[in-house]
Order: sequence, then structure tokens, then C-alpha cells
Amino acid sequence: MTNLIYMDHAATTKIDSRAFEAMVPFLTEDYGNPSSIYSISRNPKAAVRKARDIVARAINARSFEVYFTSGGTEANNWAIKGIARANQSKGKHIISQKTEHHAVLSALESLKKEGFEITLLNVDNEGLISTMDLMQKIRPDTVLVTIMTANNEIGTLQPVGEIGRICREKGVYFHTDAVQAVGAINLDVEDMCIDALSISAHKFYGPKGTGALFVRGGILIDNLLDGGSQEKGRRAGTENVAGIAGMAKALEIALELGDEENLRISRLRDKLSDGLLQLPFTKLNGPSGAMRLPNNVNVSFDGIEGEELLVSLDIAGLMASSGSACTSGALDPSHVLMAIGNDKELSRGSLRLTLGRENTDEDVEKAIRIIDETISRQRALRNGRNR
Ligand SMILES: *Cc1c(COP(=O)(O)O)cnc(C)c1O
Repeated sequence: MTNLIYMDHAATTKIDSRAFEAMVPFLTEDYGNPSSIYSISRNPKAAVRKARDIVARAINARSFEVYFTSGGTEANNWAIKGIARANQSKGKHIISQKTEHHAVLSALESLKKEGFEITLLNVDNEGLISTMDLMQKIRPDTVLVTIMTANNEIGTLQPVGEIGRICREKGVYFHTDAVQAVGAINLDVEDMCIDALSISAHKFYGPKGTGALFVRGGILIDNLLDGGSQEKGRRAGTENVAGIAGMAKALEIALELGDEENLRISRLRDKLSDGLLQLPFTKLNGPSGAMRLPNNVNVSFDGIEGEELLVSLDIAGLMASSGSACTSGALDPSHVLMAIGNDKELSRGSLRLTLGRENTDEDVEKAIRIIDETISRQRALRNGRNR
């Protein structure tokens, strides 16, 4: 169907056709194992090397500091558990914050069982941490601070440069989940004093199941997988050559489109957000303007059930996401929306729309119309029931 509108780019993106083309050779003729020495392994080996250079350059790292992973979840788990465990002689205290992705929060939960102590910083009503608060919470036994660059639900951009400099000064390692930030904002691990950084290809028009972890040279980190000598023996296993080549191509394209595309998307975002906020009993979640991802809109509609809204929107041809996750039949309000101070009702009636490369002005206009009609109908039904 051609009239479907996809506005869930924070969940995943459609692979760019050029990134897809870059993968094909390694699934066909160039199938050689990069570790082998015969001629058909030459191209795969060169592709992995080139991809490492591209990823490193994109974040101003050095190639030997980049490890390929199966995605953002793996990169976050490896960075947090690997750095915490390898450096525990220094201490077992870790600082993070409440609106992190579950890949970070659950990794921290499992470290708790190993005797690590976790401090989760509060955020303000826009989802921002206080750097003053961070400074006060760092202790002599703090080994790691992990704070995301950009939030996947409400688009908040944390002041990572400032956080990095605080951590550097205090002698604490700083990891950031930059999965939502790649392509949207400039990342510079030197300038921002970042020690470890996670990325995931399918959030920037690359293939699913491929990501990378940057770990600053000299930092101790436990191996993720023991086995062969791939990834310097730290993450053994034959490389996902096609995925790695696709990710590198997608990253090149994202950086090339850069500011111009982000400006276009941020204009669409503002148009969408302005249109939705004109609807009655509607509230914006997350920051406005500069501290927000260019593609993120998150709104709460009072008196509306998020899951019900999503189903109706899907029928009307609009794909979006709600702030709540339906786990085992029970509707859990989003931990992010609760952390910024929304009550349970408002958190349930929330809608996340994340724009992308294929979205147009017409899509935005149509989306506003569809949402307006849908919530008006649902509110009318509800009022009818209550009478
Ligand atoms: C999508 C996402 C992840 C997980 O990445 P996968 O590659 O899907 O495992 C982690 N963190 C954030 C902020 C994300 O948006």
C-alpha cells in the first residue's frame, strides 16, 4: 500500500537502498571469511577494515577503538558490564539516570546482583539530568557513569559534553548510549570526553542486527565472547561482514545528508507538534526546541488510551508508537513519562511520532488530520459511555 505513513523511525528505519547494495556482494560472490588468507577473503577483510575506519571517523575515534556488535543492546550490555567488571577493584558504584533505554537499565539491574550499587539520577520535566546533581553523586568508589545522548521516547538531548568533562575531571569512565543520536547530532568522543559509546545501524537506515561499540584505547573491558581472534579477541566470532558493510554505507549517507536533512526534519517536527498541540487537552512531552532530537514528537491526550489510539491510527494508515508497553496484557505506563512527572493517566494516553527521510509535508498534514479525527471519535465514544 502506498498511502501508509510511517512515523516510527525511533523504533527502526527502512534500510537505504545504497546500504543494501553495499551488503549484497558479501552475501554472494565475496563470501570469504575475513580471517582466511586466500583471494576471496580479500574483499571481505578490506570491507571490515574500511567500515571500522568510517565508524571511527564519524565519532572522531581511532579505528582500533571500534568493535562491531550485533546492535545497540549488545553494545550497551558489553560496555556497562564489561567496564564495570574489569574495573571493580576501583569500586562498585555506577551512576545512570531514570529515562535510559531498557538495554541500559536491565544491564544495571543484573550488575546489582553482583554487588554493584546503582544510583539513578532524577530528570526534570523535560527529561534533563542536572550536571550539578551528577557532580554531587560521584563518589571515590564510582567506576562508571552511563547517560544516554538522546532519549528514544521524548527526544531529550543530554549535555554529554559537560557530563564527559565532569567525569574526566573526577577520574570516572563515561559511557553513552548514542543509538538515537547518530546522524541527528554531531558526536565527537574527544571533544565530549566520551570513553565508550554505543551505536546501532538500524536506527540510521542500516541493517538490523549490526552495531558498534567505541571503547577508548587503554580502558579495561572484559571480553564479551571468548573464541577466535576477531575484534582483538574481545568479541570472538566470524564477522557479520554484510551487516558491517551496510552499516558503514548507511553511516556515510547519514553524515552526508547531515544538517540540511536534519533542518528539514526539524521543520516537519515543529509543524506536526504545533498542529497536534492545537487539539484540545493535549500536552507536549519532552523539551521544546534546541535540546530535542530533530525528528521526535511526543504528546499526551487526556482521556485517551494509547494502545487503543495506536490500533485506530494503524487502521487509518498511520504507524506510530505509544509511550506505554503492553506486557503480558497489562498496560505499563512508560518509565520515561513517569520520570518527567506525568501521572499514570497521561502516560497511558501518549503518542510518539518519529519522523524520517521519507516523510513529507503532506504526510504531516495527513497525520494531524487522522489523529484529530481519531481522538475526537474516541472522546465522543467515551463521553457517550459515561452518560
Ligand atoms: C533501539 C535502541 C537501542 C537498542 O538497539 P538495538 O540495535 O535494537 O539492540 C538502545 N538504545 C536506544 C536509545 C535505542 O533507541
